[in-house]
Amino acid sequence: MEEHIKKRFSEIVGAQHIKSSQAQLLAYSYDATANFQSTPDLVISPENLEEIIEIVKLCSKESIPIISRGSGTNLAAGTVPTQGGIVILFNRMNQIVELDKANLTITVQPGVITQVISNYVEQNGLFYPPDPSSMKISTIGGNVSENSGGLRGLKYGVTKDYVRALTVVLPNGSVLKTGGKLAKDVAGYDLTSLLVGSEGTLGIITEITLKLIPLPVHKKTGIAYFHSLEDAAETVSAIIADKIIPVTLEFMDRGTMDAVEDFMKIGLPKDAEAMLLMEQDGDVELVERDLQNMIDIAIEKGAKSTAIAASAEEADLLKTGRRAALSALARKRPTTILEDATVPRSEIANMVRAIQAIAKKYNVQISTFGHAGDGNLHPTCLTDVRDLEEMNRVEQALEEIFHVAISLGGTITGEHGVGEMKAPYLEWKIGESGIQLMRQIKQAVDPLNIMNPGKVFAKEKKMRLVIQHGE
Ligand SMILES: Cc1cc2nc3c(=O)[nH]c(=O)nc-3n(C[C@H](O)[C@H](O)[C@H](O)COP(=O)(O)OP(=O)(O)OC[C@H]3O[C@@H](n4cnc5c(N)ncnc54)[C@H](O)[C@@H]3O)c2cc1C
Repeated sequence: MEEHIKKRFSEIVGAQHIKSSQAQLLAYSYDATANFQSTPDLVISPENLEEIIEIVKLCSKESIPIISRGSGTNLAAGTVPTQGGIVILFNRMNQIVELDKANLTITVQPGVITQVISNYVEQNGLFYPPDPSSMKISTIGGNVSENSGGLRGLKYGVTKDYVRALTVVLPNGSVLKTGGKLAKDVAGYDLTSLLVGSEGTLGIITEITLKLIPLPVHKKTGIAYFHSLEDAAETVSAIIADKIIPVTLEFMDRGTMDAVEDFMKIGLPKDAEAMLLMEQDGDVELVERDLQNMIDIAIEKGAKSTAIAASAEEADLLKTGRRAALSALARKRPTTILEDATVPRSEIANMVRAIQAIAKKYNVQISTFGHAGDGNLHPTCLTDVRDLEEMNRVEQALEEIFHVAISLGGTITGEHGVGEMKAPYLEWKIGESGIQLMRQIKQAVDPLNIMNPGKVFAKEKKMRLVIQHGE
């Protein structure tokens, strides 16, 4: 990047809010995705909407790629600057703007950590349900841009179900305001929905208004351990078929349980093949009834043992164990590749069986956990990128998992997004006409392709590739 352009960025945000040393650029060359790396030209922390407009106008004039970055926890290489350019951080745009109790909304800047929002509204007797396992570190801007889900998705839905309004700086520097605090709004195309999950490819989100709901009065957590994965998977289908919609229905297989137990020592048994974590919230009577029914169904389906958390602390420990699944597995081998193949709930048992068979066929180590109630499984491959022969088998195994998920009526990603990593597979899910329409939308909004270029759209690069910008 030419010096006069760098100077201009410094004038916009102040030199102290720009990172440009090699060490600093390296820190923003990767995200939580294995095996993708590429350094940006500059990392910039703007303070407000006006500065972002100036930055975008300059990038538009000079055709500089813009990569918006929250906490970089995405698992699809969505924030890796594979075509160089500037990384925009929101660490200075991390304020809660307004809690509106009359309209049940909260308005926030994109850099607020999701857990901070959750805690803040709960102190006020309100509830923001989307709770990605990364909520202690991920930002709301990242959650909105990925349309993230969480442990409570089964009953309460995902991020998109709570986004009421957005302020967005478009690639030409103009400002778009979508939606509002209102509960109903059908004026024109639903631009809020278009932007949610757009992975930083259509604009920069600078303000978000979220819907809140009353905090449930009561909740209770149960657990069931199984001799077989199939029994656990069939329990999930049976619970849903019994018309129970629990707040949480999470699944961990033996490999994941072992990793969590090694990591956290919370007393998970060593002789179970799978476990289900179940939670219900709401009125006391409904919670007690649903939890007992779920436990009964688990026993009917062959659970080897079941338990109900005796206290809120015990319940939190179990949920923390589940949230730590990825971190716990990541300690096992040098490289962790986490997928989120998703199928209709009724196909969970088939999907779990297929994952096991595929792991065996390619001789790779895959542990599975996930939001079983949503049909959203996270087959997690523990491997080593330095072993190219093994990586080749891993890639084939993951491709086959995507194929099976689609053949069962599912998708290549339920909540992690496409990013750069899954771009080659998107067409499998949405077809040629889907890709074409998305390209036309992108072209109309961002004709210079400066917003997170190289992300989402199908192309040849495979996940194995390590890309170094400028090499
Ligand atoms: C341990 C772990 C657990 C996880 N658990 C879950 C889970 O349960 N559910 C789930 O859905 N995901 C999960 N994830 C994935 C990840 O945390 C989510 O995708 C999260 O929403 C990313 O937030 P972030 O702030 O890190 O965003 P980033 O990773 O920094 O960015 C994500 C995307 O959003 C774009 N973006 C960020 N901010 C803006 C903005 N202001 N304007 C425009 N675009 C923007 C980026 O360009 C990128 O495309 C997990 C990840 C880890 C590492």
